[in-house]
Amino acid sequence: MKETQKQFQIELSKYLAEKDFIYGPEPELYSPIAGFYTYGLLGKAMKNNLENEIRKTFTKNNFFEIEFPIISPEIIWKASGHLDGFNDPVIICSKCNNSFRADKLIEEKTGIIADSFEDKKLLETIKEKNVTCPSCKGRFELKITRHSLMMKTTIGKNIVAYNRPETATTTYLPFKHYTNFFRGKLPFTVFQIGKAFRNEISPRQLLLRQREFTQAEAQIFLSKEQKQNFELFCEIEKEELLLWTEELQKKEEKPLKISLKEAISKKVLKNKAYAWSIGITYKMFCDIGIPKEKIRLRQHWQNEKAFYADDAWDLEIELNSFGWTECCGIHDRTTYDLTQHQKFSNQDLTVRTEKGEKIIPDIIEIAFGIDRPFFALLDIAFFKREDAKRTVLSLPYQIAPIQIGLFPLLKKDGLPEKAKEIRKELNDFRIYYDDSGSIGKRYSRLDAIGVPFCITIDHQTLKDDTVTIRERDSLKQIRVNKKELPQKLGQFFVNGFK
Ligand SMILES: [Zn+2]
Repeated sequence: MKETQKQFQIELSKYLAEKDFIYGPEPELYSPIAGFYTYGLLGKAMKNNLENEIRKTFTKNNFFEIEFPIISPEIIWKASGHLDGFNDPVIICSKCNNSFRADKLIEEKTGIIADSFEDKKLLETIKEKNVTCPSCKGRFELKITRHSLMMKTTIGKNIVAYNRPETATTTYLPFKHYTNFFRGKLPFTVFQIGKAFRNEISPRQLLLRQREFTQAEAQIFLSKEQKQNFELFCEIEKEELLLWTEELQKKEEKPLKISLKEAISKKVLKNKAYAWSIGITYKMFCDIGIPKEKIRLRQHWQNEKAFYADDAWDLEIELNSFGWTECCGIHDRTTYDLTQHQKFSNQDLTVRTEKGEKIIPDIIEIAFGIDRPFFALLDIAFFKREDAKRTVLSLPYQIAPIQIGLFPLLKKDGLPEKAKEIRKELNDFRIYYDDSGSIGKRYSRLDAIGVPFCITIDHQTLKDDTVTIRERDSLKQIRVNKKELPQKLGQFFVNGFK
């Protein structure tokens, strides 16, 4: 890893803790355990805002939200394949006895992507490339063991159960209810936002690799025919984005800038429903404030995909702390999941198509952890922070944890009273009221945590009811009547500061 990246990671994580975005690893007060973090006083507000933006996108695209229990009995994870297949290859240092994920270790030391390697190939690579223990530089035992990522628990006295490793599987289980609600008419579109758990052997990389995290996963249930003729596709077909096919990756060539329409006609993407899923995902990441040039779609290699997947692409974001990083997966899971649950539950999970044919629907899934775009937004904003004179965290307006700073210029002459009066009219916004210290210090405190607008109440306000609004990035100030405030600010949050 590059030194500058490492240095940036250290500065960023220190900043996030100091400014109340992220605390941890937890429990800080006792002995911290890697992979568990607290979203702090500002971080939680920001995460809520982000979740709401994601909810808006899915709702706008006609997805319905459910909430399934986090803990489920063993049989579900037997059926889904997680109990047998969801594990990491672990290797142990023969000198210090520490254990590591073999594939990640290879990736860190050599840059070779190894997560699809079989055990034999992992061992060969470790030997060939002379990969040694990061803790003590010792040699590894030439043996790989498989470590299950499932977080086990017990229900009641003795029912073996697991914390879910993904929300997706639990979105498939109420399938029969969807059949009712959507009156049997495919496609059904359902999403879930909630906690998931992975018992990683040695999680690092801050928020990117946690043992407990929040997923947002949307599922489209549809017929094979609908995949090809997906009606909504025409609404999004002109969207242009960077697609990095397996072929281009192998030739070490750059991603292709291409419209979704072209991607279908050139068979870069296999079907319209899948292309639509990629399109709405890309737009969602742009809408939450990730710059377009920092987003690309990378196709999984044939040997990297799950065995049942027809196609799989990752949306990657270029981070200053970790380089290009997977932040969302779009997977064509075919009929695999429902077939498995039909078999294990002994229940009929078919629907009838318009032609009267009985089928098990295919599933296309949009899957990501909210923690990653959350981290990406802070990574990007923090990187830009160093203006010559001031530290500004340029978070997108709609994501910023505090929306408005409210300052009486002085703590006398009736200005605080006036400010409190104005506060009551701004109930729809999250406000930070501050009446102590110089006005410059108050501004810079709020710039550093990304507050988009500050309102100042001065002696002029007492005369004519006008206040100043100051915008964070441009430092531009305008004077408006207090009556216009809620409407003006509302507009700025939707259309930008103009
Ligand atoms: Zn060691």
